[in-house]
Amino acid sequence: MKILVLNSGSSSIKYQLFRCADWQSIASGLVARIGEAEGELKLHWLDANGQPQARQASLPIPTHEDGIDQILRSLCASGALTDVSELAAIGHRVVHGGATFAQPMIVDDDVEAEIQKVVPLAPLHNPGHLAGIAVARRLFPSVPSVVVFDTAFHQTMPPTAYRYAIPEFLYAEHRIRRYGFHGTSHHYVAKRAAVMLGQPLEQCNLITLHLGNGASASAIRAGQCIDTSMGLTPLEGLVMGTRCGDIDPAVPIYLLKNLGLDADGVDQLLNRQSGLLGICGVNDMREIDRLAADGNEPAELAIGITTHRLKKYIGAYYAELGRVDAIVFTGGIGENSAVIRQRSCAGLARLGIELDADANAERIAGERCLSVSGTEVSILVIPTNEELEIARQALATVAAAS
Ligand code: AMP
Repeated sequence: MKILVLNSGSSSIKYQLFRCADWQSIASGLVARIGEAEGELKLHWLDANGQPQARQASLPIPTHEDGIDQILRSLCASGALTDVSELAAIGHRVVHGGATFAQPMIVDDDVEAEIQKVVPLAPLHNPGHLAGIAVARRLFPSVPSVVVFDTAFHQTMPPTAYRYAIPEFLYAEHRIRRYGFHGTSHHYVAKRAAVMLGQPLEQCNLITLHLGNGASASAIRAGQCIDTSMGLTPLEGLVMGTRCGDIDPAVPIYLLKNLGLDADGVDQLLNRQSGLLGICGVNDMREIDRLAADGNEPAELAIGITTHRLKKYIGAYYAELGRVDAIVFTGGIGENSAVIRQRSCAGLARLGIELDADANAERIAGERCLSVSGTEVSILVIPTNEELEIARQALATVAAAS
């Protein structure tokens, strides 16, 4: 059997097909520019001999229904999928599950309605997800659709971590609280960290750092999330590619009152023009690393602010957890930027956090341990794999239901 994972956005659908027997990814790709005059279809797959193949096409893809239909047609044409009956489930990534969903769910009308209810909390993401879910259910009624939420892993946070210090009615009536995101990634790397540490996840205390274009940190006690850096939306917390992360909440008020910006203008400024891009004009960490090495001051400052914030979160989560077995770096930056890892861990030897400089500088891919041997806190690099985690959770959910 196979699992198809869909990540449906407003105008694109990313997909990946997994074989359940060995969790091998046998095909992946995307349809993009849905609704535009010319859409795009990309497919990478392994042929019968295990050789990688690729196909790309430009064609009109007017709706999400056409997009998913094209994905299934091209998967079948490539031989990666014989027929829809091979699918044990379709796993859908959903960014926001509100406070309702702490687990993946097989989609029925009630689940779809609940996801609809949290659209105001994720207006850029949940409508696209809902479009993909509705089409998958309509086109393939015999294949269970399973939704896996970015927020679910963080539902174990206590109110002391998830409530804001604002009037109670904003929580009770408007659901304004911290939810956290990237949960599928934090959960995946936490499980892999437990394997690397040789301990059951239920005994592991971890600080997981997902550092990509979006970035978040989580504190995990005994395998469960007790705090995370993103909040009501993915804007709170660490410095990101174009998002500011933590700022004084009075800054948006100041912008509204003094710069003549409206709400959309402030949203645009803090979500799309801030973060690394806002500080140094570039949001690609590879480029920032290069510029800083050449003495570029804004690039150096961007790294400085990013790692200063990271270190604050590591310290805060260490204090919350009391004992830390491992710090895990993941995401494009966490997996690849030696500078970011080195500067966020620098000076923490008294806490048992000590990077091996040579191991950190080595440019190798894959899971690895970078801490000085014998130190208390392991420092791990674990490439994330959210699609694989969604596929596994989708199969487990379907198996549990039957
Ligand atoms: P993600 O969102 O996880 O795909 O991560 C994207 C970020 O990872 C971008 O800021 C990239 O510049 C960064 N990145 C990818 N490869 C490297 C690398 N070799 N060194 C530093 N940063 C990298």
